[in-house]
Amino acid sequence: METWCDESWQLILSDVELLPDASIAFWWRDDDASEKTDQLEALTKVAEEFRFEVALATVPERLQSSLIQYVKEHPLLVVCQHGYRHENYEKGLGKGFAAELGDARDPKVVLKDLAEGKAIIEEEFAESFIPILVPPWNRIHEEIIPSLEGLGYVGLSTFGQQSQKRGELSIVDCHMDILKWKPTVHFRGAKKCLRDFREVLRERLDSGRFDSPIGILTHHLDHTDDANSFLRAFFSHLLKTKKFRYLTIREVFSKL
Ligand SMILES: [Zn+2]
Repeated sequence: METWCDESWQLILSDVELLPDASIAFWWRDDDASEKTDQLEALTKVAEEFRFEVALATVPERLQSSLIQYVKEHPLLVVCQHGYRHENYEKGLGKGFAAELGDARDPKVVLKDLAEGKAIIEEEFAESFIPILVPPWNRIHEEIIPSLEGLGYVGLSTFGQQSQKRGELSIVDCHMDILKWKPTVHFRGAKKCLRDFREVLRERLDSGRFDSPIGILTHHLDHTDDANSFLRAFFSHLLKTKKFRYLTIREVFSKL
């Protein structure tokens, strides 16, 4: 799969040409962490090359001590909470989609799980944990959201267009998923990734919401070398233009 597409990049460059430097903010989230793996090490190398923080969405029930130690040694990895056990409770209900935090269970039961998961991660990661909830499969039942603030979450992140504040809860989504999931998971290719990125960028240009950061979504466990090569090429091109500005995870969720 091609790891760069200059033609697509030129289109992006022409979109941002007239903008002042550092106009468009972006951030990085990576899902499904639970232990130290070769794939996580490969992703961390990319983060360290560019000195970008990664919000590592971590599954509390699957947490292994190797990840706790690894995060301690790699300050660019910041931990947030990825559901509780990453289980699909919609299975067999004929809905055609997967969710752990959907409406298949009573919201009270879901919230109890979340609180338990949060306690685990909070205790193990201390300051490396930022209380942001990343719902597995990017789905959360609307009725659960108003209770998140009471559980101590400052942020919620799914996939789409959202960037808003609900009470004190900042909702900041991701927009460019570098993987394609069906029929089997693989790197999407540079052209498609850049097309998605440009789509969000154009929305920002049209709406003038430059401050609403564009989220890059990765899943280190499913990356092959071409996915990581694309990330390297993408980040270095973003930095070269000077039109884009990287935000730390705390900046992303305190900015709204
Ligand atoms: Zn996940």
